[in-house]
Amino acid sequence: MADTKKIAILPGDGIGPEVIAEAVKVLKKTEELFGYKFETESNLFGGIAIDEKGTPLPQETLEMCKRADAVLLGAVGGPKWDNNPKELRPETGLLGIRKALGLFSNIRPAVIFDCLKEASTLKPEVLEGTDLIVVRELTGGIYFGEKFRRDTDNGQEAVDTCVYNVKEVERIVHQAFQIARTRRKKLCSVDKANVLETSRLWRETVNRIAPEYPDVELEHVLVDNCAMQLLRRPSSFDVIVTENMFGDILSDEAAMLTGSIGMLSSASLGEGSFGLYEPVHGSAPDIAGQGIANPIATILSVALMFKLSFNYQEAGDVIENAVKNVLDAGHRTGDIAVDKSKAIGTTAMGDLIVAAMKR
Ligand code: NAD
Repeated sequence: MADTKKIAILPGDGIGPEVIAEAVKVLKKTEELFGYKFETESNLFGGIAIDEKGTPLPQETLEMCKRADAVLLGAVGGPKWDNNPKELRPETGLLGIRKALGLFSNIRPAVIFDCLKEASTLKPEVLEGTDLIVVRELTGGIYFGEKFRRDTDNGQEAVDTCVYNVKEVERIVHQAFQIARTRRKKLCSVDKANVLETSRLWRETVNRIAPEYPDVELEHVLVDNCAMQLLRRPSSFDVIVTENMFGDILSDEAAMLTGSIGMLSSASLGEGSFGLYEPVHGSAPDIAGQGIANPIATILSVALMFKLSFNYQEAGDVIENAVKNVLDAGHRTGDIAVDKSKAIGTTAMGDLIVAAMKR
């Protein structure tokens, strides 16, 4: 008899609650198929928490996440909160929760589904065989460095500082080498070592660690070049490891290789098996409330949770195969449909995937 896994659920804003509802159906179906027990608890996070509790990350939400074995997050943000001061912005909650839960890496797989090649803006022959993972450092760098403004003779000046220490680089680089070992054994470390001091420290640290992984082939690529190579030769990448801001940008670029941001899952991991799982996309305010969001990224985030946090490999495979079968049968939400008039909605897509889940 499997032990009960506690899952903290943060639906968030915009399409967040819509896609989370479909992922919850997948959890229930997994309980039926495998006899697993999931105890789910849900709480406010992001813009809705600002409206109701006056802060994007209320203490009780954080406590709930700390009690859980894993967290499932929808998405946060929207124009309503865009002009708020920093402490009252949904993204501040996102940065805060990652820090408070000790999540230091974000893992984003970008895999080409054969039946969706036509949805990408790249030529199918360029995409053929693309299967890569971006491992992004999450707790350091320019997003967390000191920020301030000051008056100068040339008007106001704004400063964002980028800081990294050796320990922060070491733990993410070890994790990336270990992931590469379970795959095609190629690691691409991305930096801007020709101009940034943090990047020079990053590269030195990668080079010092590399001899511990002689079976993994290592290359260093400058971030601007990497942005180009991802479009030119995406299938040549296996695991890409990089710092926070570069990873933010490159993983969105990698996302577009697959045709739709609505298909991409992600995991944020710390030490041990605890993780926070969420779709790569945001709250999509432009389509929120219409019932047309693609729930696949969130559903695949559940599969990733099963594999990385719970070691439920078979249950993860069952979800991934169900998604593949539903897509192969020709079902599409609007974002991935060639013929938009035949697109199905969020709930219909969720129901089809649940119905296709078989052991
Ligand atoms: P977005 O990902 O929300 O949307 C970008 C485009 O992709 C939009 O046209 C949207 O309709 C479409 N899209 C996204 N997810 C989709 C889905 N599941 N199905 C179909 N189409 C989908 O990015 P954005 O517009 O830059 O940001 C909107 C808000 O989300 C902002 O407030 C931003 O700060 C926030 N955001 C939150 C997160 C997060 O919660 N982790 C991540 C990124 C952006």
